[in-house]
Amino acid sequence: MNIETVGVVGSGTMGSGIAQVLIQEGYKTVLYDITEEIVSRARKTIFARIDRLVEKGKLTNENGEQVKNSLVCTANLSEMKDCQVVIEAAPEKIEIKKEIFEKLENYCSSETLLATNTSSFSVTEIASQIGSPARVAGMHFFNPAPLMPLVEVIKGIQTSQETIDALYKLAKELNKTPVICEDTPGFIVNRVARPFYNEAIRIMKDQIASPEQIDRILKKAGQFKMGPFELQDLIGIDINFATTASVYKGSFGESRFRPHFYQERMVQSGRLGRKAGGGYFEYEK
Ligand code: NAD
Repeated sequence: MNIETVGVVGSGTMGSGIAQVLIQEGYKTVLYDITEEIVSRARKTIFARIDRLVEKGKLTNENGEQVKNSLVCTANLSEMKDCQVVIEAAPEKIEIKKEIFEKLENYCSSETLLATNTSSFSVTEIASQIGSPARVAGMHFFNPAPLMPLVEVIKGIQTSQETIDALYKLAKELNKTPVICEDTPGFIVNRVARPFYNEAIRIMKDQIASPEQIDRILKKAGQFKMGPFELQDLIGIDINFATTASVYKGSFGESRFRPHFYQERMVQSGRLGRKAGGGYFEYEK
């Protein structure tokens, strides 16, 4: 399969990062979100990042313009019709994802490969939403997508080997390091990462140490690049909570994955992290 045009559904933290990676690597990219306003905001963010790469001399002026010209932003999902691959990066809510895949089945060619960037849902469940689940797989990028090399390529029960091979090759062409994973709760990285966040929150709520202290200890002494609270703010507290809740449910209540009630309180407060201007810490919007 010759992949020239890739669609990205959802232009938030991950969708805008994935779209940036695609255009920088020469793919025509159609980026969708539910309103013109949201997707225009994403375009501004992506263009500002490209401009910064030009300023730093990592891209020439001419290349920067070329890269920008390969991005099409839309609030009309039917514009995915000419894509050979579509990567869904909508909120971590199973009903939203199912509805998107149903619509993509109608709008896209029957050859189009459909990937989900889900952090934790069953790829098999999402794939079974359409009549040809063999062309559905997980393609799980990490945040920030332009910087993080790892991509988990996830094989649902009905995903064909051709689909996995094509998405693996695409990830390689994006200069990423793909790993093929089974469709298990949290795949590899998010399964390992759940206790990192869970225990940090429990330590905080047991008043053993504050978020600042826990982050500082893990960064300074533990050599982690970011602490668990700073990371939750980067990921989005809603997304991180949804991932924990989904891994807990998917593992039939395995106690080590149990979310802390405080994660839900944070979501209810609207303090979702960097994207909201504040979470565990404060940020400029
Ligand atoms: P986000 O909240 O930053 O962005 C989600 C975007 O989806 C928003 O722009 C929203 O307007 C849009 N949206 C809402 N309803 C939609 C619909 N019906 N159709 C299309 N778009 C819709 O979320 P995010 O952090 O970018 O996460 C997106 C996906 O990527 C989730 O499945 C998440 O689990 C996964 N993921 C997130 C991270 C992370 O660190 N944030 C890392 C890896 C994977």
